[in-house]
Amino acid sequence: MAATEGLRRSLGGLSEAEFRDRFGSEEGCRKALFEMRWREGLTCPNCGHRGFCELKTRKVFQCNRCKKQLSLTAGTVFQDSKLPLATWFGAIYHLTQSKGGISSIELGRRLGVKQATAWLVKHKLMRTMADREARKPKLQGRVEIDDAYLGGERAGGKRGRGAAGKTPIVAAVETTPERKPRRLRLTVVKGFRKKEVEKLAKRDLAPGSNVVSDGLSCWPAVAKAGCRHFPMVTGSGRQAARWVPFRWVNTTLGNIKTAIAGTYHHVSAKHAQSYLTSFAYRFNRRFQLDSIVQRLAWAAAHTVPQPYRIVIADASAG
Ligand SMILES: [Zn+2]
Repeated sequence: MAATEGLRRSLGGLSEAEFRDRFGSEEGCRKALFEMRWREGLTCPNCGHRGFCELKTRKVFQCNRCKKQLSLTAGTVFQDSKLPLATWFGAIYHLTQSKGGISSIELGRRLGVKQATAWLVKHKLMRTMADREARKPKLQGRVEIDDAYLGGERAGGKRGRGAAGKTPIVAAVETTPERKPRRLRLTVVKGFRKKEVEKLAKRDLAPGSNVVSDGLSCWPAVAKAGCRHFPMVTGSGRQAARWVPFRWVNTTLGNIKTAIAGTYHHVSAKHAQSYLTSFAYRFNRRFQLDSIVQRLAWAAAHTVPQPYRIVIADASAG
């Protein structure tokens, strides 16, 4: 039974009941956050004393010697929020457990808060995800790279590359030599141009990577980042290029498009990068689903506050 349970957990993540057990109450969340921040217990940054008392709110601790106060949420993503921690942890749960993410309308409904509140919580947590992703090493070894557009097919509209009103994105997947996906990066680009590909490759791909792509003319620019390029030109157009070398990158792109179409209906260009990064965050932790709630909560406890104006400014910047 234990083995089955272990397997189920690693594949299926935290059940709602398990989540409620650990993070369902305000008290449980406070305890969890305290552990994440101050595992070794509190030491006064002012006088070095280790004796503290909990103030009424139980979110503030006061040094018994010099009376300096420490707040449980100060300096974290939860800072200055009027929401209970249990609501934040609930948001972390919902954002990490659904494969395609969750719309702020649905998140608001599940948390019992207004959509605007859910939107802000979600965007703050997505920034935390982006922060974690940015710390990961560059993709290396065998990397499949492909282009796509977000924004859905418009009836009667232009299809395929160059379609107007869509957001161009690049998907890069590090695979095993057997072509199974390891890690994913998704990036909004200004267009499928050499300059853009060079910039992306220098940021995301380790020198010496073997980059497999189709024959689109921008991809050879990965060589500027010290990568080797293997174009898979099959001679009979786009469909032929969808053959085995691109199975994973295409499956992934297909999943993203389905998720975005199903969950968000429409993602504006200015928020596309946030959504893509949160998708990659979940994808890259798909074998750690039982710890992903704890991991994102830990990250939020160790990410500086993300004030509303910054969330907005960044979203507009792309
Ligand atoms: Zn003190």
